[in-house]
Amino acid sequence: MGFIIIAICLGLIPAAIAQSKGRSFVGWWLYGAALFIVALPHSLLIKPDVKQIEREQLESGTSQKCPFCAELIKAEARVCRFCGRDLPTQESAQLISEGQIPGMSEEEVQEAIRNSRERLGRIPRS
Ligand SMILES: [Zn+2]
Repeated sequence: MGFIIIAICLGLIPAAIAQSKGRSFVGWWLYGAALFIVALPHSLLIKPDVKQIEREQLESGTSQKCPFCAELIKAEARVCRFCGRDLPTQESAQLISEGQIPGMSEEEVQEAIRNSRERLGRIPRS
């Protein structure tokens, strides 16, 4: 009985390491409890599952994806640390979706839209 408890406790070590690399905690816990001697070096050697870690960071809201270069950056970031571009804040994204641009009056926005339509020519006027 004591051996089982020790095995379950030891199994937590590779499980914690594997989880930090984006792997299944429960799966590695069982693996670690059954085969601790193998699971511990294995958990240290596996490569982090970058996609899984990214997914978790996006879901938890601590990170966002840069709309320009698609790299993962902090949710509070105003400037992308990879491509250096200014990121739209939630407020400005909301305003732009409503047809307003921060720092521009509605007439200036309409004027800019007219100008760009005339330049492009091929976009049908609404
Ligand atoms: Zn970027």
